Amino acid sequence: MSEGEFWNPGMELLSGEEIRNLQLRKLREVLERCLHSPFYRQWFRDAGFEPRKLAAMEDLRALPPMDKETLRGGDPRRFLTVPMEEVVRLHSSSGTTGQATVIFHTARDIDAWTELVARCMYMTGVRRRDVFQNMMGYGLFTGGLGFHYAAERIGALVIPAGSGNSKRQIQLMRDFGTTVVHVIPSYALYLLDVFRELGLDPRRDTSLRMAFIGAEPHTESLRRRLEESYGIKAYNSYGLSEMSGPGVAFECPFQEGMHVWEDSFILEVLDPRTLEPVPEGEEGELVFTTLHREGMPLLRYRTHDLARVLPGPCRCGRAHRRISRIKGRTDDMFIVKGVNIFPMQVERVLLGVLGVGSNYRILLETVDNRDEMRVQVEVSGDLWHGEVRELNQLRRRIVQELRQEILVTPQVELMEPGSLPAGEGKAVRVVDMREHARGD
Ligand code: AMP
Ligand code: ZN
Repeated sequence: MSEGEFWNPGMELLSGEEIRNLQLRKLREVLERCLHSPFYRQWFRDAGFEPRKLAAMEDLRALPPMDKETLRGGDPRRFLTVPMEEVVRLHSSSGTTGQATVIFHTARDIDAWTELVARCMYMTGVRRRDVFQNMMGYGLFTGGLGFHYAAERIGALVIPAGSGNSKRQIQLMRDFGTTVVHVIPSYALYLLDVFRELGLDPRRDTSLRMAFIGAEPHTESLRRRLEESYGIKAYNSYGLSEMSGPGVAFECPFQEGMHVWEDSFILEVLDPRTLEPVPEGEEGELVFTTLHREGMPLLRYRTHDLARVLPGPCRCGRAHRRISRIKGRTDDMFIVKGVNIFPMQVERVLLGVLGVGSNYRILLETVDNRDEMRVQVEVSGDLWHGEVRELNQLRRRIVQELRQEILVTPQVELMEPGSLPAGEGKAVRVVDMREHARGD
């Protein structure tokens, strides 16, 4: 790869050792800033932590990790290391798991974040000549504005389409020759049905060449399906509003894991029970410390997202460590008949079966005091209108493959294409109606 393929070669091409040195230097600055925040002064005092004595990165472990609960525990302004006048914007999480959390940004914070997302987009090949359609929700959600400003910074033509309104999305793509989209993967899958309904084939009838997919867990099978159906490359994009938003970790052209921008984040992978680091390469909870944010830095923030660090260097030449696809959140996991199950295990099976359509969901119910798991799966249009015998075969096959993967025998219900609720935001894959889940 030539230098020209890097947005910020100075940062992207640091060696592992240079990254560690830079992190330590930046961490000291961040800790110094934190002394201006009432929250951190107290947090440090309670932990007996002396920020000015930090000698090595490991010393940070003396601080207890924080999470959404820590953020929700009072006025978010107590985290600020700058006067409120310096704050120019706030964003908040999508709140799929309870009350939203707020992050304040200064102008410099917005700039640093924009640079990170631009770096991601440029890495995969977005250039000035591209037409970028941002199909993510604008507003408090960070997926909209985060990508918007980054694409503008690169100089692409930005279509701020926002989420939903599928027919108009397709119209915009065709009218303006959209080449790159940013989209929630479950929605991208759903949109294929709309293309079909309109008698269009995205491979033939659009100029799409690339998609950034993120904001929710999804499997390699889903990615491949999108790539084949749209005739594009789909890159996994990971972020969370507490870490500013998108731009935390992103796939390079080799699509072998997502590079975490370690000049801007310290990554730890911890055992969610003991909060000790897992052995290198093992799965655990991602915990991040911001190094790029001045207004509201977060130290050792628990994401509840599960992934592992991939071994060895990447073929692209970047030493920033790579993480695997996110397996799910620690709170996504559900237990049926004593077995731990992640929704992504179900998705992996479903999308590997020919005839399965664009949407599915998992219903958990209590029947005769026992857990029942029901999987509703849309099938392809051809199959739905075809023979009953084939539908039965498909159903049996899905039951069998699911049983092998999750060790529980679910009920499988085949559904008409388009009959399951398809939201514009993150997909709700599991509906838990069991008595204990309802709090009865
Ligand atoms: P929010 O703060 O509302 O943007 O939500 C962030 C959360 O969305 C993360 O903590 C993850 O659980 C999930 N998420 C974001 N991007 C991805 C991705 N590429 N793969 C899997 N989950 C993701
Ligand atoms: Zn790479």
